Amino acid sequence: MSRIVTYSPAYTIVPTYECFNRCLYCNFRVDVGKASWLEIETARKILTSLKGVTEILILSGEIHPLSPQRHLWFQRIYDLASLALSSGFFPHTNAGVLSYEEMSRLKQVNFSLGLMLEQVVSLDVHKYAPTKKPELRIQQLQWAGSLKIPFTTGILLGLGETIQDCYDSLRVIASIHQKWGHIQEVIIQPYQPGKQEIYKGKPVGKEEILEVVAMARKILPPDVTIQLPPNLISDKQLLLEALQLGVRDLGGIVAKDEVNPDYPHEDITFLKNFLRENGWQLKPRLPVYPQYYSWLPPHLQMLIQDFLSQHQDYIRHPPTS
Ligand code: SF4
Repeated sequence: MSRIVTYSPAYTIVPTYECFNRCLYCNFRVDVGKASWLEIETARKILTSLKGVTEILILSGEIHPLSPQRHLWFQRIYDLASLALSSGFFPHTNAGVLSYEEMSRLKQVNFSLGLMLEQVVSLDVHKYAPTKKPELRIQQLQWAGSLKIPFTTGILLGLGETIQDCYDSLRVIASIHQKWGHIQEVIIQPYQPGKQEIYKGKPVGKEEILEVVAMARKILPPDVTIQLPPNLISDKQLLLEALQLGVRDLGGIVAKDEVNPDYPHEDITFLKNFLRENGWQLKPRLPVYPQYYSWLPPHLQMLIQDFLSQHQDYIRHPPTS
């Protein structure tokens, strides 16, 4: 019998590419004041045109918490999530570091939230990125737990960290999950060089990716799923080896990876066939894992019940490692 690996049929909308951070490896941001924000009516047209998509990933650059624009920025994100919901989609937002109040409000219109921990050490690539301070991001994970928000986080590889840093970062995620039980998945995200960035590093080696996947599976509690984005690894054999080591999710398969625009996803049918030929069944999931359905506000739980009653192919239980 084939084993199950999941993905989320997703589409990314970007409220703004403006970001006051300047991570040296970024292929997403534009300077503050240099980009227009996504209008609600434009988003409505985009959503109306989508086919075969369930998750709307709302991914935004960050407006400074003390900026006079912050309130408008947050309201736009909230309104886009509400629009996605009322259009029959399942929103998941990753808008960087948020206040406790902002997180609490987004819980009402999202099935889960996300923020990469990245690493628990300060890295040179973050020297111009105030919200990449590890303590701020650890606090975000703690707040999400205290608010009972199903949460996606992860670590970045290939940005100057050591294997010990990866170990320490995974240990921190594991201990926060042991306290709150809210980390649904951890993304192992290998760096790939992009055209727009300043950093210009080398792609992460196969051995390092596999070493960190194996380490993650040992350190993280078994109910935390490990995700590896298939568009960021060059070699399909590596994907199979990572599955053997415990990867069980491929993340959102989107039309455009906004964070890594130089690395498009392969066609989903191709990926499904490749996996099937190698003993794996690729199944869709919602952006919230089944064990967290009861954590959601009642209006979101009802939407899940309605959706699942009409979509038998979606998983009912997270795949086991
Ligand atoms: S990686 Fe994210 S936080 Fe850093 S500059 Fe880019 S958009 Fe901003």
